[in-house]
This record gives sequence, structure tokens and C-alpha cells, in this order.
Amino acid sequence: MKITRSITEYKRWRNSLNCTALGFVPTMGALHIGHASLLERSVAECELTVLSIYVNAAQFDNAGDLANYPDSREQDLALAEKLGVDMVILPEYDQMYPDNYRYQVDEKVFSQKLCGAHRSGHFTGVLTVVMKLLNIVQAHKAYFGKKDYQQYRLIADMVEAFFLGTEIVGCEIVREPDGLACSSRNVNLSDHFRKLAPKFRQLLMRDLLDDEVAGALSLAGFEVDYIETLEKRRYGAVTLGEVRLIDNVSLFEEGL
Ligand code: AMP
Repeated sequence: MKITRSITEYKRWRNSLNCTALGFVPTMGALHIGHASLLERSVAECELTVLSIYVNAAQFDNAGDLANYPDSREQDLALAEKLGVDMVILPEYDQMYPDNYRYQVDEKVFSQKLCGAHRSGHFTGVLTVVMKLLNIVQAHKAYFGKKDYQQYRLIADMVEAFFLGTEIVGCEIVREPDGLACSSRNVNLSDHFRKLAPKFRQLLMRDLLDDEVAGALSLAGFEVDYIETLEKRRYGAVTLGEVRLIDNVSLFEEGL
């Protein structure tokens, strides 16, 4: 497995390839079995797989959340190697933002809803960094998790809008045995909140109105950001202690 911090070096490697199926999995590190499922799918479907690890400050609207974002670089690299990743890129801010974030990708409609309505500038940060990464990596396919369903849809639509050459593949949500969606932030939950956390998805799936779900979550001890159903998918964001969790369920699949 090759590892590089240099975009120039990555491009040299990319230009040397004669590969018709290059897969790409962008992440912010602190890898867990959700990330592993994306990497496994890429390794299974593609000739070569590229992993990026970059904690993108531009998409954080909360300095505390960024400061507490977990980092497990050594384990991440060991997992990547075990899963058969061929190249890892670990760029620094100066490499990713030579423009110091003067240029940004803005979406005006869907990015204003759900998480976008509660995290100012979040999706502009996400779309800008993903645009940069897709242009750098030049993959045939890039894998994104449906845990971040709004992000996945916005990226798929951006690729179409800007005629980018990478196919966006949406991957199913990987959950802990108790139903909590795997997330890098879960390690920051206290024992008490970790036990409470599975109630989030259980209530999202209940045959209740969004406001009733929000009320039940508040009563159970969650701080509710939003619970909202759009096109038969119920999205939610809550905070437990200092930890923000998001999830979504297809009400169509739940038969509701
Ligand atoms: P992150 O490191 O949080 O930016 O996530 C990197 C990628 O992994 C994104 O496409 C996420 O949607 C995806 N991902 C994170 N958690 C999960 C999960 N539990 N199941 C499936 N995909 C996930």
C-alpha cells in the first residue's frame, strides 16, 4: 500500500496507471466498520482503491466538534492495508486549499434543508472538498455512505451538474448490533449516552408524526436538532452530551 501526503506525487502515480476501474473512498479518518464496508465494496468492484483521510475544517461549524474529532491514524492505515487499499492520500490544508478557500461550491436548494439549516456553511465545505478530491483522484467510482444521505444526494447531483467523470455509488448504512449507526463520533459518547443512543433510530422508525418523534426523543434525554420527513425518508439529528448524531430511515422500506 502506497501512502502520500503530496497531491503532486499522487498525480504522478495516477498518470502512471493503466487502470479502467479506479475506486475512491473519501473519509475523515477514525475508521470503523461503516468505512470498511465502503472500502470492501471498492476493492471488490475495482482494480485499484484509493482512500483519502482529510479532516476538512471548512465543513465544521463548531470549533469544539472539530477539536474533539477522533484521530486514530495508525489503526486506520493498518485497517486500510488489511482491506487491500492500494493508495492512501493524507493531504494537509495548504495542499487542499492553495486558494485559502476563496473558491467554494454552493448548492442553493437541498443544502439549505435538514443539516444545512442547522450547520451554517456545512455543505459548502463538504461540496468544495469533495469537488477538489474528485478532481485530484480521477476515479471511475467514488463510494459514499447513506448514513449521510443528504450529503450523498448533494454530491451525486453535483457530479451531474458539473459533468464530473466519476460515478457516485451510495452504500447502505452499517449499524452496531443494537441499531446505532456506526460513526466516528460514537467513541466520544459516555457509557450512559451510548446506552441511550439506539433509541434514536428506534424512534425514527416508529409510526408517529415527526413532531411526536422529536417530543419522544426530548423526553428520553436527547437534545433534538431536527426530525423531518422528505420524500418518505425520515431524517434526524440529535445531540447527546457534546456528541452530535445523525441518522435516516426509509419509511417506504419500513412500511410506514
Ligand atoms: P466520514 O469519515 O464521516 O466523513 O465518512 C466517510 C464516508 O463513510 C462517508 O461517505 C460516510 O457516509 C460513510 N460512512 C460513515 N459512517 C457510515 C456508516 N455507518 N455506514 C455506511 N457508511 C458510513
